Amino acid sequence: MDLLLHFCNMNTKNLIKITIAPGDGIGPEIMEATLRILQAAGAAIETESIEVGERAYLSGISSGIPTAAWETLRRNKIFLKGPITTPQGGGYKSLNVTMRKVLGLYANIRPCQSYHPFVATKHHIMDVVIVRENEEDLYAGIEHQQTDEVIQCLKLISKPGTEKIIRYAFEYARTCGRKKVSCFTKDNIMKLTDGLFHKTFTKIGAEYPEIEQEHLIVDIGAARLADTPEQFDVIVMPNLYGDILSDVAAQITGSVGLGGSVNIGNNFALFEAIHGSAPQIAGKDIANPSGLLLAAIQMLLHIEQEKPASLIQNAWLKTIEDGIHTADIYHPNISRERVGTQAFAEAIISRLGQQPSQLKPVAFQQGIKQLLHQYIPEKPATKDLVGVDLFISNTNRNASELAGNLKKGTLQKMDLKMITNRGTKVWPEGFPETFCTDHWRCRFTAAASESIYYQDVLDLMEQVNQQGLEIIKTENLYTFDGIPGFTAAQGQ
Ligand code: NAD
Repeated sequence: MDLLLHFCNMNTKNLIKITIAPGDGIGPEIMEATLRILQAAGAAIETESIEVGERAYLSGISSGIPTAAWETLRRNKIFLKGPITTPQGGGYKSLNVTMRKVLGLYANIRPCQSYHPFVATKHHIMDVVIVRENEEDLYAGIEHQQTDEVIQCLKLISKPGTEKIIRYAFEYARTCGRKKVSCFTKDNIMKLTDGLFHKTFTKIGAEYPEIEQEHLIVDIGAARLADTPEQFDVIVMPNLYGDILSDVAAQITGSVGLGGSVNIGNNFALFEAIHGSAPQIAGKDIANPSGLLLAAIQMLLHIEQEKPASLIQNAWLKTIEDGIHTADIYHPNISRERVGTQAFAEAIISRLGQQPSQLKPVAFQQGIKQLLHQYIPEKPATKDLVGVDLFISNTNRNASELAGNLKKGTLQKMDLKMITNRGTKVWPEGFPETFCTDHWRCRFTAAASESIYYQDVLDLMEQVNQQGLEIIKTENLYTFDGIPGFTAAQGQ
């Protein structure tokens, strides 16, 4: 494990160099407002600007980021990023997804807080931090069309990825004085992938006995989060659930314009608003800069400048409390004055040094330590090949005929055990009601008392190929220390 210091003593003499990208749409306006506030609060930073996003995309750079910008980013290691526009049409890769993966930003942290009664929300009590795994799951982006009718997307969940994010969530809770960590998965259905996430949560959670812990199936977890968010404190989730539910959580606080997020890895950190470039309101001086500002406060904490961070957060809370609101949160019964982006920034600057009287003021602490996990692999398990799933494209929807063809010839070392269609067993003894596509998973396992090797899989494939059947994919079946590394079929 690496011990990294966060939120420590500030040395204002040394300016910390950070990379900034104003971004597209409302990005330049909210970046200008944010930097003005940081400067007025005495943040000891020096900015180096790069251009990423729409212009880079349209100049033919499919990643949205020029090579020279990577060098700046890697040198400075801290990035305050405005929202960017991804042009419509194919061929453009998501800059955010690329940066998260390339720079190892495995944790996405999104605090979502209710500012009742000063911002209209149905939820008066809410102070939730979503900790989302950021690098893997279905976002590996590995998709294939395999037959006319079936396309797959691989869900990859790794032990290192899971351990790092879950440990991060517990360390975050311990560091920030949070009392409870909840974990959402769907391991009643995805027993191996989400099962690993859940098991790892239980294993690592045992090291944090002072923190209350719970696991919820993601559907009921999501329903409760939307209904009674006051039940939750820190929630850790795999990538897809975290992506969806962090937007839900931010929206129910009152406005997506209030959300800031942190993407963090062991050597790099990216801070940004949760919203996009809002092109419809760009250039009108009406966007709310709060999301980027709250992200910038997290950045100041990350670079050990807790004093300007506290000053800004308290002045921002006081501004909200005084009813000085941008259009997205303006409410005639709550707000006192509707202001534009830059006037909102000025209102915050004029309140630097003041504290809110009803909302809870902050006093970010010195010397708080945060542990980022360096994964140490365990001793590898003993891995034995025990069979293979052959995926076959076949428009003849008769499972028994397919089984007959597969069994032709001499299959001495492996037996055909079952055939499934979209995961449901259709042979032996399927139901006539089960709808079948042109995509069949045919499971062969080692015959009794046979040890099998990869050559046996190749021999089997050769034999199936000779029957005129088209194999579109294979998955070897292994046991790890005797435990099957594959699931049974629905109905098996
Ligand atoms: P969006 O977040 O830009 O806008 C959604 C709605 O929220 C709009 O009604 C918008 O006016 C409003 N809104 C957003 N930010 C606001 C603010 N600060 N103040 C007031 N109102 C605000 O989402 P979208 O319209 O789906 O996407 C627009 C573009 O942004 C797309 O090109 C998308 O790819 C991109 N995008 C970028 C990021 C990012 O860079 N991190 C994130 C999401 C979307």
